[in-house]
Amino acid sequence: MTAFTITLPSGVEWTPTFIDSIDRAKCIGCGRCFKVCSHQVLELRGVDEDGEFVSLDPDEDDEEYEKKVMTVAHPENCIGCRACAMVCSKKCCTHAPAAA
Ligand code: SF4
Ligand code: SF4
Repeated sequence: MTAFTITLPSGVEWTPTFIDSIDRAKCIGCGRCFKVCSHQVLELRGVDEDGEFVSLDPDEDDEEYEKKVMTVAHPENCIGCRACAMVCSKKCCTHAPAAA
């Protein structure tokens, strides 16, 4: 894969990395990453004891969630700022270069 790169004003080439995944096993659903992401990339979701996604809406008839986890809902919106990774105390976020 040829990685997407940009050339900085200094002439240095830089390869940005974008959100690739969030480790569901490590995530505690604290929402810190969601708060710092200003590009509507992330979404908090519920998972049941079998690891299946369930609604967080108490008015829906879905099974009760066991825990909340952050998910990557819109990776196409990510600008690669890495703010989510910087605030995550559990080191859940993985970033990767994009294809050119
Ligand atoms: S890298 Fe930046 S834009 Fe991308 S998900 Fe994280 S906080 Fe949002
Ligand atoms: S900051 Fe880390 S632990 Fe908290 S919701 Fe985001 S990915 Fe999960």
